[in-house]
Amino acid sequence: MIYFIGAGPGAADLITVRGMNCLKRADLVVYAGSLVNPELLTYCPDGCERMNSASMTLEEVVSALTSRPAEQVVVRLHTGDPSIYGANREQMDALDRLGHAYEVVPGVSSLNAAAAALNVEYTLPGVSQTLIVSRMAGRTPVPERENIRSLASHNASMALFLSVSMLGQLCAELIAGGYRPDTAAAVVYKATWPDQEIINGTLETLPGLAAHIGRTALVLVGDFLNGTVERSKLYDPAFSHMFREAKS
Ligand code: SAH
Repeated sequence: MIYFIGAGPGAADLITVRGMNCLKRADLVVYAGSLVNPELLTYCPDGCERMNSASMTLEEVVSALTSRPAEQVVVRLHTGDPSIYGANREQMDALDRLGHAYEVVPGVSSLNAAAAALNVEYTLPGVSQTLIVSRMAGRTPVPERENIRSLASHNASMALFLSVSMLGQLCAELIAGGYRPDTAAAVVYKATWPDQEIINGTLETLPGLAAHIGRTALVLVGDFLNGTVERSKLYDPAFSHMFREAKS
């Protein structure tokens, strides 16, 4: 069986129990070496073959994944959660065409790890109830209708992947799209790794403050970063719901 496993954001104990158990039984692991923490490979048994996909093509990855008999355990280890900028759909398509069964084990995304590092919540009552996850167009294009400027017009909470190398341009687009220049913004570099770094600023100041960060970072934007909040209805004593009667 082939398993696509989310490795989590970095720290080796942030893989899921299910993901770790698959690694413990693995005969072959193909891991995304540029972002997956090599410490995770210590969960693999001694005889397990390890291949770093950083220098491999899609064809080579697929050929490795399909090289073992169906009773063996083959793991494709992706950073964070595979469903977010994971490039795993193209691998699943190829396996579908070749008639190989596979299963996906979700992971903790850097989206979650960055919020945890900052002690923030993306969806605050009275601030924003929407989280927009996107990126700047780079060598991978972004559909024109999703350009940063138009997404910014919502003034929602935003998390931007794969964009920290274009931070100046990104912040300018966000302001042009309608965020106040003093909107809180943060860069979280290598969340949960030993060299994690957090840089807090505003859309105006962040490009200067985080100019030394070139990759492996999320850019977070929105008033949710300020942390002040209207209290939620869910835990309000005057609010009844399925599990609790309101107290007068
Ligand atoms: N599937 C991954 C994302 C892969 S795309 C996930 O769910 O997190 C790679 C991008 O993810 C990086 O360029 C960076 O923007 C972000 N990223 C991955 N790991 C990170 C980490 N530990 N801290 C901050 N950003 C990270």
